[in-house]
Amino acid sequence: MSELNIFLGPPGAGKGTQALKIASEFDLAHISTGDMLREHVSSGTELGKIAKSLLDEGNLVPDKLVIEMLLERLNNEDCKNGAILDGFPRTLPQAKSLESLDKEFPVAKVFVFEVNEDELIKRILLRGEMTGRSDDTEESIKVRFEVYKKDTQPLVDFYNEKNLVNVIDAVGEVEDIYNSISRHFK
Ligand code: ADP
Repeated sequence: MSELNIFLGPPGAGKGTQALKIASEFDLAHISTGDMLREHVSSGTELGKIAKSLLDEGNLVPDKLVIEMLLERLNNEDCKNGAILDGFPRTLPQAKSLESLDKEFPVAKVFVFEVNEDELIKRILLRGEMTGRSDDTEESIKVRFEVYKKDTQPLVDFYNEKNLVNVIDAVGEVEDIYNSISRHFK
């Protein structure tokens, strides 16, 4: 049995930064569906061709494709000890797809990152400047926030009903936020 830990939160909340640190400290796989999709785009796969414009606009890639990609990734040897899911699930159908894996890959904990919108916009625009990420633009940010509120935020209730949610105040020093998450893994 390999436990899954879900990092949930709006774009720019710092899920990726914390997921990397937690995964390396506790020897868990770090699965970022955003990173995986960007790799598909840059290597020009069929999935990458479909995903490119959706990513740039700030829209989601269709559930079926992302679920397939994720399920395949979970078969990897490095998931044996459990994994951090960073950016998945992002919709109710995606969350339900995990329910069917409950025997092999139960969801252990869900961390909901909370950051106010002004801070998020600041962080994303800064990241865009530093990395040149093509979806870190003002136009795409607006869409991503709307998509988050409509499609992803309902997952907080979904996992609250299962008593799996830990709310993380994700404003402040990276190290302090890390400590507030890592204590749940000890
Ligand atoms: P952020 O959290 O800052 O939006 P991510 O790297 O997690 O950045 O995601 C970037 C983009 O990748 C999303 O806007 C979306 O287009 C796509 N994506 C990532 N994960 C998923 C998913 N689970 N379902 C659908 N699309 C996804």
